[in-house]
Amino acid sequence: MPSSTEPPFRLEGRKVWVAGHGGMVGTAIVSRLERESCTILTVPHAEVDLRNQAQVEDWLAANKPEAVFLAAGTVGGIHANDTRPAEFIYDNIMMVANVVNGVWRQCQAKLLYLGSSCIYPRLAPQPMTEEALLSGGLEPTNQWYALAKISGIKLCQAYRRQYGCDFISAMPTNLYGPHDNYDLEASHVVPALIAKTHAARESGAESVEVWGTGKPKRELLYVEDLADALVFLMKSYSQEGHINVGTGVDVTIADLAALVARVIGFEGRFDFVTDKPDGAPRKLLDVSRLSDLGWRAQTDLEEGLRRAYAWYRDNVAGTT
Ligand code: GDP
Repeated sequence: MPSSTEPPFRLEGRKVWVAGHGGMVGTAIVSRLERESCTILTVPHAEVDLRNQAQVEDWLAANKPEAVFLAAGTVGGIHANDTRPAEFIYDNIMMVANVVNGVWRQCQAKLLYLGSSCIYPRLAPQPMTEEALLSGGLEPTNQWYALAKISGIKLCQAYRRQYGCDFISAMPTNLYGPHDNYDLEASHVVPALIAKTHAARESGAESVEVWGTGKPKRELLYVEDLADALVFLMKSYSQEGHINVGTGVDVTIADLAALVARVIGFEGRFDFVTDKPDGAPRKLLDVSRLSDLGWRAQTDLEEGLRRAYAWYRDNVAGTT
């Protein structure tokens, strides 16, 4: 049983399932795992819908992974969260419930569950330590997603306590990078600003719209750094408590827009659209628990934005 295995947990030679391999995080995990001499398992959505318990159980019984990264989810930015609450709560609860229970029943793999920094209370003291969980009310715009993610953490803890499963949870801060979602209705702030600023530069527009006041602060982690942290945690962490993954540094949305403009070479102005929501005023993670274990983010924000923009230019701009 992996539950009795003390870290380090070995990935070499093992069957490792990346659930959600088509998304931004899953893609980064798959490419990071290619350096680990393991067998990477993925399954297309058309074959296994993770919201369907029977399909998940059957696939796990047939494939028996020994380690699982649960990076699947219905995800999106502030507007998508606010307007599609049923999908955000139902899909995410079903996926984690089916995978956690299925892994326990069918293969007893080590499992790493991915949450989000929006699990913390809207007005949690900054930076937010892992202990801030459930100490206050949630940010209303993404409470549905947050509740599903909190349920996921608690499922992992409950299966560890009752059945001895080696299930751990990581809480990443806001992410960006290659393979991000650039659909402006569903996207997060970084891809939205990249797409809008690029379009403005191409068309010679004088201004770009930025939602909200520009005053909220966000901590942004390059997705390849996240993938590296997750592999590190899979190998070296085996405890009930969830663990924050971030950079420890945040930036205002207005400063982020200015940095995106510099990366793209846009010289116009930004107009702040204050009838759009600001969301949480700030959600900076305290990353000391992860730093104490020996991991730190490597990619600074400007470099990460340059790489994200290069991917956007090569894969999205001009292709639609
Ligand atoms: P959040 O961290 O859950 O609030 O997710 P987002 O990445 O969607 O939004 C972060 C902040 O960026 C919020 O204050 C938004 O109002 C702001 N923002 C500014 N312009 C945009 C935009 O075009 N799209 C999105 N998604 N957010 C924007």
